[in-house]
Amino acid sequence: MSHKYVYLFSEGNKDMRELLGGKGANLAEMTNAGMPVPQGFTISTEACTQYYNDGRQINDEIKAEIDEYLVKMEKICGKKFADPENPLLVSVRSGARASMPGMMDTILNLGLNDVVVKGLAKFTNNERFAYDSYRRFIQMFSDVVMELPKPEFEKIIDQKKAEKGVKMDTELSADDLKDLVVRFKAFYKEKKGEDFPSDPKVQLMEAVKAVFRSWDNPRANVYRRLNEIPYDWGTAVSVQAMVFGNSGDRSGTGVAFTRNPATGEKALFGEYLINAQGEDVVAGVRTPSPIAQLKQDMPEVYKQFASIADRLEKHYTDMQDMEFTIENGKLYMLQTRNGKRTANAALKVAVDLVDEGMIDEKEAVLRVEPKQLDALLHPQFDAEALKKAKALGKGLAASPGAACGRVVFSAEDAKEWAKNGEKVVLVRRETSPEDIEGMQSAEGILTVRGGMTSHAAVVARGMGTCCVSGCGEIVVDYDAKTFTLGGKTIKEGDYISLDGTTGNIYGEAIPSAPATISGNFGRFMEWADKYRQLEVYTNADTPRDAKQGRKFGAEGIGLCRTEHMFFEETRIKAMREMIVAETTEEREKALAKIMPFQQGDFEGLYEAMEGRPVIIRYLDPPLHEFLPTKEEDIKEIADELGITVARLKNVIASLHEFNPMMGHRGCRLCVTYPEIAKMQTTAVINAAIAVTKRNKFKVEPRIMIPLVGEVKELKFVKDIVVETADQLIKESGMDMKYQVGTMIEIPRAALTADEIAKEAEFFSFGTNDLTQMTFGFSRDDAGKFLDSYYENKIYELDPFAHLDQKGVGKLVKMAVELGRKTRPDIHLGICGEHGGDPTSVEFCHDVGLNYVSCSPFRVPVARLAAAQAAIKNPRK
Ligand code: ADP
Ligand code: MG
Ligand code: MG
Repeated sequence: MSHKYVYLFSEGNKDMRELLGGKGANLAEMTNAGMPVPQGFTISTEACTQYYNDGRQINDEIKAEIDEYLVKMEKICGKKFADPENPLLVSVRSGARASMPGMMDTILNLGLNDVVVKGLAKFTNNERFAYDSYRRFIQMFSDVVMELPKPEFEKIIDQKKAEKGVKMDTELSADDLKDLVVRFKAFYKEKKGEDFPSDPKVQLMEAVKAVFRSWDNPRANVYRRLNEIPYDWGTAVSVQAMVFGNSGDRSGTGVAFTRNPATGEKALFGEYLINAQGEDVVAGVRTPSPIAQLKQDMPEVYKQFASIADRLEKHYTDMQDMEFTIENGKLYMLQTRNGKRTANAALKVAVDLVDEGMIDEKEAVLRVEPKQLDALLHPQFDAEALKKAKALGKGLAASPGAACGRVVFSAEDAKEWAKNGEKVVLVRRETSPEDIEGMQSAEGILTVRGGMTSHAAVVARGMGTCCVSGCGEIVVDYDAKTFTLGGKTIKEGDYISLDGTTGNIYGEAIPSAPATISGNFGRFMEWADKYRQLEVYTNADTPRDAKQGRKFGAEGIGLCRTEHMFFEETRIKAMREMIVAETTEEREKALAKIMPFQQGDFEGLYEAMEGRPVIIRYLDPPLHEFLPTKEEDIKEIADELGITVARLKNVIASLHEFNPMMGHRGCRLCVTYPEIAKMQTTAVINAAIAVTKRNKFKVEPRIMIPLVGEVKELKFVKDIVVETADQLIKESGMDMKYQVGTMIEIPRAALTADEIAKEAEFFSFGTNDLTQMTFGFSRDDAGKFLDSYYENKIYELDPFAHLDQKGVGKLVKMAVELGRKTRPDIHLGICGEHGGDPTSVEFCHDVGLNYVSCSPFRVPVARLAAAQAAIKNPRK
């Protein structure tokens, strides 16, 4: 028997999303639950993979199966596909395993041509509706399948409206629409050099191909990379009988959530439009009515819908996001899925579902996306400043948070300006999937059109970016790069502020204050902490960072970068004196000036952590980073140091390296200048003694030697540390313990971890450097060529954002095993950027690390990711 590629809705269920995509699986589930779903079939993701394997062709076997299922579908629907007497029209819909909003396009009303449209008009006795459907089809098919951009067609419509002196699409008559169809087809022929395809079967096959093809379009690829969705999943295609929301005033289309996706409040939430089809609601062409209005407009339909919504939520035990259409007073369900929601809503829903007895704590912990917590921790407007500010206007509060930045009018500008370190607010009439990268770069997004479920609103909520949508009073002039609101004209580059929680728009910069977290967050995170098995530390160089990390639940400091303490204005001079020193004595003299500063910093950190682990890494960067490069600075600094310009230039020249990343840095500095290690150890130990003396808790310092690749080099530095430390401790008469460990960030260290563990009491995987060294390209240079690698599917993800489990991960795993073999109680952790990345944290759990360390604001993310990893794959 040949392979099965096509499934009727009645043959699937919700657990088949890998094969049928989320949309197809849920259409099947609703069908089998007896809900009113227009029937059809789903072409599987395997067919998509096959399409690519066959060189972007649908092979005959799959084509035949599609034809076979079209016949089955006709039987079920009691109508024939594109039959002029009583036509079955279809929609062709894409659906991957994970929802990718707006990434791939749906084609509606497929099967229409000049003959079928007449039949449709006659059968429905509604000529206007028939031609409206037809012109929509030509537009969508041309855009999605033939890549003739939609705006070109919009122009033709606008022209027609101008000729007729009307404003709304709905004011165009049947004859106007007929004329539009003629103009559309003429335009198509002019651009494509051939007639618009009139054979419905050809239309169908081309549409299916287009969906498969769209899996590989640039915006889909960007979205996948941002969301770690593998390329090889592919998309499924659902072919579904059309129902018509645009067939009159007893028809309509809408989108609704079982709970409020912004707040989590338990109440049906959504919007619908009367006499409209498909994307009209999301596109923001007309402003929709709230779902509650449906209760008045069509009470029976509302009741049925509310009851289905309730059933679906109980069935999936999660908040649902549903799409529906009403045709002449009859309700049809077109989609359901677990709804995207803000972080606050996610917490509230998770906690409420536990209280309602629908799910247990563990399940609740799995329900919130760790990345989302970021949004909660972001600053809010300073309440006082906000009170004083006067809003220019108000839009919909589409995605909460506070945004303040300079106005730009295009996604490209947003990206460009942000790259140059500007904070920007993106202002658009509406957004579309091409804008995704620009939206990602913006502090906030403001749109003129579109409701709470518009593209801008959905995408912004997903990103945790503040968004105010649908502010219709705004008049945008893209050419002049200005907008007016509330009598004020704002130019490109002017500051504005958006309040995503109220929808207010301010024509000024408003200062913001750090987030305050409480309530559901506390309760939820308690559950997470109960199940997590990894310790979560923070990276902190200052007492302020340390306190911030503590507030977010950090259990220690996993990385204190001591060099950051040298860069401060008061200290950099002593540091430079140290670097230009010509003798050991001179160098020691300069270091002696730095010592008290370092000691003070360490005391601050120990105080903030109250006896919890504090891991201090010794000087890491190459020394040239502390010296000036510009001519005028060199002169000034030479004077300051009391040396000649020539001497300083000499030092700078001597420090020049061809590849500083692999140069004289890390522990190599201490091998050359042991007095650096001596000074840092003195500061670490003296600080620990001082703080232990004046507090009830005991400090047990952990000293971390960076960039080790050979056990003897570790031993060399460690000997200096131990000698210095033991001496100081002895003099103090205290009984103080300390540990010496190392970073594993050079492949050779991972490969010889068994030997290194003889000297190291702990390992911390420095996966930033380990990634650079393993791939053999530097993080700062990779940006230039990684895009070509993504385009060519050589790499799918940024290895600096998400730990490369195959290569770098293999080294980590090996070092874990080798290290434990030598020293079973060795303490193992990670301190690279990856320590705050959810999938990387999961990897750390799975390979058996003891802790992860990340920046303070990522701590809650790491706690939750660790909990989820432990629930999915508990360790003994
Ligand atoms: P997306 O994944 O972008 O949401 P969908 O496949 O859900 O795309 O299609 C978008 C919209 O098109 C739906 O919300 C619905 O309004 C409309 N639509 C899709 N299929 C049908 C159909 N068979 N009958 C009527 N409307 C449909
Ligand atoms: Mg879409
Ligand atoms: Mg949809």
